[in-house]
Amino acid sequence: MDYKLTDEEMALKKMYGDFFKEEMKKAPADTLKGGLEGTYSGEGWEFTKTMRKKLVEKGWYVQHWPTEYGGRDAPLNEQMIFNESIAYYGAPGIDGFGVGMFGPTLMLYATEEQKKRLLLPIAKGEVQYCQGWSEPNAGSDLASLKTMAIKDGEYYVVNGQKIWITVGHRADHMFLLARTNPAEKRGRGLSVFNVDFSWPGIEVRPIKYMNGSHIYNEVFFTDCRIHESERIGPENQGWSITRDTMNFERSGAGAFARIRKELEHILEYVKTTKRNGKFLWEDPLVRQKLGRLYAEMEAGRAMAYKVAWLQRVGNLRFSPAAASEGKVFSTELTQRVADFAVEIMGLSGNLEGSEWAPLNGAMIGTYQTIIGSIICAGSNEIQRNIIAWVGCGLPRLKGQG
Ligand SMILES: Cc1cc2nc3c(=O)[nH]c(=O)nc-3n(C[C@H](O)[C@H](O)[C@H](O)COP(=O)(O)OP(=O)(O)OC[C@H]3O[C@@H](n4cnc5c(N)ncnc54)[C@H](O)[C@@H]3O)c2cc1C
Repeated sequence: MDYKLTDEEMALKKMYGDFFKEEMKKAPADTLKGGLEGTYSGEGWEFTKTMRKKLVEKGWYVQHWPTEYGGRDAPLNEQMIFNESIAYYGAPGIDGFGVGMFGPTLMLYATEEQKKRLLLPIAKGEVQYCQGWSEPNAGSDLASLKTMAIKDGEYYVVNGQKIWITVGHRADHMFLLARTNPAEKRGRGLSVFNVDFSWPGIEVRPIKYMNGSHIYNEVFFTDCRIHESERIGPENQGWSITRDTMNFERSGAGAFARIRKELEHILEYVKTTKRNGKFLWEDPLVRQKLGRLYAEMEAGRAMAYKVAWLQRVGNLRFSPAAASEGKVFSTELTQRVADFAVEIMGLSGNLEGSEWAPLNGAMIGTYQTIIGSIICAGSNEIQRNIIAWVGCGLPRLKGQG
């Protein structure tokens, strides 16, 4: 595979880069915290909505989607260049849940009526989605979930509790996984629903993260009535639909561009910081560790390209093993990079919001939040089980992955 960009691709990269560089000059302090916190907290959320509008106007928001659903069928290479640019500059705007997960799921499983009704608002950036899967006693073992959706005429009556719902407090909609057949205790009794948060019987309560930020939520359903026209795919077939949605969640091609940016910051830091009279770059251990992290980042980038390619040729379905490999590698590499940065910065590496905080405290933020990323979207232990089973061809262990 030749990774060199053509002249046209270079021009595209420059166009995206110029745009994001300029726009990020207007970003408020909240946005500059980066990650989910930067995207969804305080003034960061206002900036996210403004950016979303601009991306829609430019025709970039869902450019990889088929034309009939509001995209322009952008070729894979163009989408990869876009993903890398937006991630590299740390720009917010894209609703990963609507654009990245539920949209592609709808394309595969929704009726024509549902596609017309639900895909266009996502494509126009008019709605924010969240993902309603986990429960207090159903995380890794998601198929055992207990939120009930019991049929009553044309409606389903939903009762139950969801937990760790990222951006639930900003969302207009949720894609919900609930039990429609109480007699089945596992995957065979589940269905997927589109839920509008303005409907009665839904309560969102905050869960504060260890650094005090509000990104996660509990969502309670009490006799919430959902019309049957909101069920996506056949009744009780929600588990196989959700497995496809999971793979869209785990592909995450922009992660390695973000890691590149962080490594560039660290390179700048070691070039300009002295310890015991010597620059950090002169320390052989620092050089070796950085060289290794850099090589891993390049390897990860190649993996991400493979996932994107499989996604394209597989008509949106692709190997779960490749998606899991990408998720494990990108999150754990981010953790290794943050660990390394905080280590070489010494005690001041733990500072935030202080003039003494190296790199404006950016690395301590990543150091704290990456732990959540290693657990969410299916913990890395579960991803390794999937790789062993689907990727390596080992016999499956019941109830794992
Ligand atoms: C930051 C964050 C954001 C999240 N966002 C969302 C969201 O938006 N929507 C949503 O629905 N959920 C969300 N989640 C929930 C997430 O999907 C679950 O936390 C995750 O699946 C793990 O489930 P659990 O927390 O119940 O842990 P458990 O399943 O109880 O696991 C506890 C530990 O045991 C390990 N373990 C469990 N089973 C096995 C096994 N079979 N083999 C080996 N090890 C195992 C796990 O790896 C983990 O280390 C989020 C979680 C986090 C941390």
